[in-house]
Amino acid sequence: MKRKKLIIRNKMKYPKLRELKEAVISLVTPAYTSPFPAREHIPEERFRGKPVVNEKKCVGCVTCTNVCPPNAITVSDDAHTGIRTIVRDYGKCIFCGQCETFCITGEGVKLSNTLYDIAVFDRSNSVETQTRELVLCSHCNAVISTKEHIHFLCEKLGPKGYSSTLALNILNQTMVPSSEDADVPVQDGLKRKDMFNTICPNCQRSVQVKMLL
Ligand code: SF4
Ligand code: SF4
Repeated sequence: MKRKKLIIRNKMKYPKLRELKEAVISLVTPAYTSPFPAREHIPEERFRGKPVVNEKKCVGCVTCTNVCPPNAITVSDDAHTGIRTIVRDYGKCIFCGQCETFCITGEGVKLSNTLYDIAVFDRSNSVETQTRELVLCSHCNAVISTKEHIHFLCEKLGPKGYSSTLALNILNQTMVPSSEDADVPVQDGLKRKDMFNTICPNCQRSVQVKMLL
């Protein structure tokens, strides 16, 4: 038993020949790692760096919020002000690229292959905020989505978009010269005429059920 222990100790004390060979080779070969920050780093073409939002292509649908594994993207809707706020905290980002892969427009966010030096002393400096205008239900004030999101869906659907009364009403608002002309207040409870107003799917269902009964 004592002899066995002695052999194990001796094995641990002296490195194996293979490890010794590796150490000697690495002493005389250049480093595999980049010499950054001493010298500028040139990332590979498919390097996944900081996610960069394209303000013109991001419609604020928040699909990326739902697929971000570390919850680096969060959203809050304020029905009072009619504003959606999207917060992207790159201090939590793991550069997985899910936001880019699942972005509904395909161009709302892309991981840069040049922005890699994003370490900060103050964590608040790695947080970015976006705001988008909300579309609210004229009857119950529920959040439907953002204006840009619904317009994007209408464009994508083309003539098929006319099968949705919500899409029709929103398109109607953009086509009339003044928003006052399109804004018909919901009065005396939900009625059939309110199908031609901007109401959420729940309120639309209530109107349709009333019409059927
Ligand atoms: S790259 Fe991954 S972790 Fe970073 S914001 Fe996008 S989904 Fe979230
Ligand atoms: S999925 Fe794309 S369009 Fe939607 S909020 Fe994220 S970046 Fe913007």
